[in-house]
Amino acid sequence: MTESPNPSIRTVGVVGAGTMGHGIAQALVRQGYSVVLHDLSPKILKGAVEKIARGLGREVEKGRLKEEEKSQALSRLKTAARLEELAPVDFVLEAVPEIFELKAEVFRSLETLPQPPRAEVVFASNTSSISITQLAAQTRRPSGFVGMHFFNPVPAMKLVEIVSGLETSPETVQAATDLAVSLGKSPIRVNDYPGFVSNRVLMPMINEAVFCLMEGVAEPRAIDGVMKLGMNHPMGPLELADLIGLDVCLDILKVLHEGFRDSKYRPCPLLEKMVNAGWLGRKTGRGFYTYPQA
Ligand code: NAD
Repeated sequence: MTESPNPSIRTVGVVGAGTMGHGIAQALVRQGYSVVLHDLSPKILKGAVEKIARGLGREVEKGRLKEEEKSQALSRLKTAARLEELAPVDFVLEAVPEIFELKAEVFRSLETLPQPPRAEVVFASNTSSISITQLAAQTRRPSGFVGMHFFNPVPAMKLVEIVSGLETSPETVQAATDLAVSLGKSPIRVNDYPGFVSNRVLMPMINEAVFCLMEGVAEPRAIDGVMKLGMNHPMGPLELADLIGLDVCLDILKVLHEGFRDSKYRPCPLLEKMVNAGWLGRKTGRGFYTYPQA
């Protein structure tokens, strides 16, 4: 594919080039979109481009992509050290850490740039749990604001939860749905409640697995083994937590806990301790398991 499959959206601005941002950028350039990828950290931006090149390279090895298509896809990827470079984009996808004030600041900053993205440009957040209604209220386009919750690893995972805030317009929901479909994803529409559907169900399970470990019920491999062999889960909850990032899991649990004011969502103290120690899972080489660093 050599050009955007969606005539009204050619260039997508992606804010945050970490685990999710680089995966989203890869899926977009793979399908013909141009991407302006912004991160505060030049090191992360450089690493993101390398990871995207490696990801597309694996597709070439598997015969799903031609070498020249990989080169074309990479030529559609532009990194941006400054948010200002997102001015001309047709759609914005935010993937900065799961902290309300950080995300709100990104959207407020975008709209107060000397040349902000056009008023009709949809703003989408990849938040896992934060209120879309509350984020939308930080902008001048609450009807043009939507949740697009991709899953990790983005190039492989089919689901995108499309989250409607209180004021999200049907046109905005449709634009996000169309974008997801054009990436080969299977969007599912849900309403705006803490954790939406996915993390409201998943995170209590992960948290309970950490409680099992903390209380000495079993070792990580045993806990994961029970869930894989007994429940037919492809990954155990602790392996999955390492993949997601323990900091991300903790942030989501805090949003659930504060959002519902229900103690059943209280984060396990062991999870908090591990995050405080900097054991964040695969991305730092150590979580419930250890990983060789790339
Ligand atoms: P991450 O920590 O890997 O990446 C976040 C990136 O944002 C970092 O590279 C950081 O430098 C950058 N950043 C921080 N502040 C910024 C700013 N103001 N402007 C630009 N860049 C900034 O986090 P992640 O795992 O990619 O998560 C990002 C979002 O995606 C979160 O909302 C998370 O809940 C959501 N999410 C994560 C997963 C997962 O499995 N990790 C799955 C679905 C959704």
